[in-house]
Amino acid sequence: MDLHSGLPYWIIKNPLFDYYNPLKMDLETDIVIIGSGITGALMTHELCRKGLKCCVVDKRSIATGSSAASTALLQYEIDVPLCQMAEQIGEKNAVTAYRSCLQSISDIETVLKETGIDADFEQLPNIFYASDEKGVKLIEREYEIRKRYGLPVELLSKEELHKQYQLETYAGALLNRQSAQLDAYKAATKLFRYHIENDHLQIFTHTEVTSCEEAPEGCRLKTKDGRTIRCKYVIVAAGFEAGQFLPEKVMKLTSTYALISHPIDNKDLWPERCLIWETAEPYIYVRTSGNRIIIGGEDEDFNDPKARDELLREKTEKLERKFHKLLPSVPFKTEMTWCGTFSTTKDGLPFIGAWPGTERIFFDLGYGGNGITFSMIGAQIICNLIQGKDDERKEVFGFERIHTTL
Ligand SMILES: Cc1cc2nc3c(=O)[nH]c(=O)nc-3n(C[C@H](O)[C@H](O)[C@H](O)COP(=O)(O)OP(=O)(O)OC[C@H]3O[C@@H](n4cnc5c(N)ncnc54)[C@H](O)[C@@H]3O)c2cc1C
Repeated sequence: MDLHSGLPYWIIKNPLFDYYNPLKMDLETDIVIIGSGITGALMTHELCRKGLKCCVVDKRSIATGSSAASTALLQYEIDVPLCQMAEQIGEKNAVTAYRSCLQSISDIETVLKETGIDADFEQLPNIFYASDEKGVKLIEREYEIRKRYGLPVELLSKEELHKQYQLETYAGALLNRQSAQLDAYKAATKLFRYHIENDHLQIFTHTEVTSCEEAPEGCRLKTKDGRTIRCKYVIVAAGFEAGQFLPEKVMKLTSTYALISHPIDNKDLWPERCLIWETAEPYIYVRTSGNRIIIGGEDEDFNDPKARDELLREKTEKLERKFHKLLPSVPFKTEMTWCGTFSTTKDGLPFIGAWPGTERIFFDLGYGGNGITFSMIGAQIICNLIQGKDDERKEVFGFERIHTTL
C-alpha cells in the first residue's frame, strides 16, 4: 500500500535509520511484532521492560510507514466527541476510552523519560473551537459531560480566544492543558536503537510477512522469501496494512493532507503555541515544530493514492486559506507538503486485542485521529494479556464490538 507521498517533514528533519537486516533463515522465537512504526516501537518497549523476549519484522525500512508522515498531536480528545460516543457505546465505556487516552499521553512521556530519548515531546495547551452553530451546541454538551467526569476542560469565549491566543473564530472553544506533540519518526527509531543496544532486540527489515496462522501450541508465519517463523505469540502492529491479517474489514481507509511552513520569527507565533483544531468535519488542525507551523486535515473519504496525490495542491491552498482566516496576524508560507493514508472507525476507537476465538495473535491497531495515544494503550493491554493479566480496558477497544457498534 502507498502509505504516503509528497515530502513528509520528519524524514527530512531526521537522519534516516540505515538499518538493513532481512531475515535469511527460518526463525524460532517467543514473540514476533509485525511492524516497526511507532506502534511496534511502543509495543517493543512495553515487552522489553517486562523482560519478555521479542523480535520485530518489517517489510520496509524502520518506521518509514505512516509514522514517518504523522503530524503527531497527542490529545485525550477523540475524533468522536465524548457526548456522542456515550450515546454510541454507553457512558461508562466512552469515559474509559477518554480517560485511557489522557493517561496515555503521560505514559508516552514516561517511556521517553525512562529511555532518555529526546523525541521533541512537548506538553502544550489544546484548543477545540466551534466552527459553526452546530459546533457551538456540541461544545456546550461536550463541556458539560467532560466536566461531570472530571476530565481537564475549560470553556473560552470568542473574545477570550482572540485576546489570549489571537484566534479569529466563529464562537468559543474548549481548552485543556494536558495535550502534547512529538516527532513520531524520531521516537520510533530512537526506541528501536535503545532496545537493540540494551536488550539485543532483533529487527528484520525488508521482510514481508505473507501469512500468519495460529495453532494450539504457537503461531507460524511465512515470509515472502519463503522463510518460516515459529513463535508463541504474534502482535500485528502493521498499521493501515493490517487488514491482510484480519478475517473481516474493521476500518475505512481515507486520505489526509499536511503541510509545514517556512521557519518564522518565534515572536510571530501565537501565545503558548497551543494545538488547535475545530468541530467541523473534516477538521483542520494546527501545531508547531520549533519555529515552523504544521497544518493538517482536509481529509477525503477515499484511499486511491493517485486521486489522493492529484488533490495535494488544491488541499494545500485550502489549508493555507483556513489558517490565514484563523490566525491572520501570523505570517505563513508553505515549505513542503505531503499526504497520507488514514483510517477511521465508526465509534472513533481503535482495535486492540485478539480476534474472537483466537488466543495468540494480537492486534494493536490505533485507527483514528489518536493513532499514537491508542498505540500506547494497545501496547499495555496486549502486554498484560500475554502475561495472563486481565485488563479492564480490553472490552472497550476489543474486536467483540464490531458486530454491535459498527
Ligand atoms: C498525515 C498524518 C497525520 C496524522 N496525525 C496524527 C496525529 O496528529 N496524532 C496521532 O495520534 N496520529 C496521527 N496520525 C496517525 C498515526 O500516524 C498512525 O496511527 C501511526 O503512525 C500508526 O503507526 P503504526 O506503527 O501502527 O503504523 P506504521 O507507521 O504504518 O507502521 C506499520 C509498519 O508495518 C509494516 N508492515 C505492514 N504490513 C507488513 C507485512 N505484511 N509484513 C511486514 N511488515 C509489514 C509497514 O511496513 C510499516 O512500517 C496521522 C497519520 C497521518 C498519515
